[in-house]
Amino acid sequence: MTVTGSIWRDQLSTAERATLARADADLARATPDVLVVGGGIAGVCIAAACHQAGLGSVLLIETGQLGAGATGGATGLLVPEPHQWSDPEPFVDLERAGLERWRELEASVPGGVGLVELDWIGLAPHEGGYAAHQPREVEWLNPGQVEELVPGLARPMEGALIRRQGRVNPLRAVARLAAGLPAVATGVAATHVELDGDRIAAVGTSAGEVSPGAVVFATGRPPVLDGLPLHIPSDRVKGHLLVTEKTDVTLPGIVAPLATQIENSQLLAGGTFDLGDESPSVRPDVIDSITAGLAAVLPSLAGVGVAYQWCCFRPRHPDRRPVIDKVPGIANAWLTSGHFRTGILNAPVTAAVLTQWISAGNPPVEAGSWSATRFG
Ligand SMILES: Cc1cc2nc3c(=O)[nH]c(=O)nc-3n(C[C@H](O)[C@H](O)[C@H](O)COP(=O)(O)OP(=O)(O)OC[C@H]3O[C@@H](n4cnc5c(N)ncnc54)[C@H](O)[C@@H]3O)c2cc1C
Repeated sequence: MTVTGSIWRDQLSTAERATLARADADLARATPDVLVVGGGIAGVCIAAACHQAGLGSVLLIETGQLGAGATGGATGLLVPEPHQWSDPEPFVDLERAGLERWRELEASVPGGVGLVELDWIGLAPHEGGYAAHQPREVEWLNPGQVEELVPGLARPMEGALIRRQGRVNPLRAVARLAAGLPAVATGVAATHVELDGDRIAAVGTSAGEVSPGAVVFATGRPPVLDGLPLHIPSDRVKGHLLVTEKTDVTLPGIVAPLATQIENSQLLAGGTFDLGDESPSVRPDVIDSITAGLAAVLPSLAGVGVAYQWCCFRPRHPDRRPVIDKVPGIANAWLTSGHFRTGILNAPVTAAVLTQWISAGNPPVEAGSWSATRFG
């Protein structure tokens, strides 16, 4: 039987699931030094980094459960190096710093964050076709070498191998990070802000008013709150994913664009870009196209069953890059939004940038490219 929903929650322990529903903060007249609005991977990483940096009392609020937005449905791949063929240099640098931060979190968070290091193999990128230079990190594979790594391909293909990329179960990472937070209130939505000059004096929520020292909005798309003068263009792009039933086919990591090997002899596939599809429902025709794609590349996957199928929406700005900035015109508020298809990868580095900015009062250099005002 196929479950319509992501596999990530089913992989969690009871304690991890309970953490996603943490509601242990008293919001009555709360005065945290830092209020983080939004409990996706970005908000949780930011709250954890602020707490770790000793920025005083930190309160995280989330309207649903932690990871309820794009985070809970993401593929969870942490693959900066293949993006050097598609993304501009400053963005790839951010992504590389993102993976480094994930490694640090894996080492520093009690029990780790569930980081799995694995190789990335791209099928049929013709040598030199994607980059003017030959990046050091890439090993080019001839068809024989590809066949050794991925036996049974429908046709001979060249490939590229990049070692030591990563993946996480995004909900496990959220749960592990959130377990160490001092105060979390799920089921609480920010609804409006009250300004006092150029400062946010209070954030109105569904559970009462909070008077924070600093506020960070990490709401996926930019926050739309009464009283907050903020207008950044954004939309969202739906994507479908599936996890196969157990199969005898074992992949040597992430095989793009085919699938990723995950636990329990299952494969994770998809990540479609369903432009213009605003329905929250899984579309059987899209799932069928993913399974047909698996069989077309690797015939031994023909007829493989689907154990999980789901979809979610990527938050996006017009240039497909995130905003990591102060809220324009407000002295004590920051935001991050529009992380599109790399929000899991970039969350820890985004958190580091914002934490440094809040603590030092000046923007770190890494923030320069991701301003909220670049859209005019
Ligand atoms: C199919 C698919 C595959 C993907 N694969 C990858 C991948 O492999 N690697 C990768 O790095 N990224 C991937 N992504 C992208 C990634 O999922 C997102 O970029 C990332 O999850 C964004 O995180 P976020 O915390 O900014 O937003 P979200 O996860 O959307 O979190 C925002 C949270 O804010 C809460 N919120 C909103 N408004 C309020 C309010 N007023 N008050 C309180 N709470 C509020 C929401 O409920 C939500 O939980 C994928 C996305 C999709 C859809």
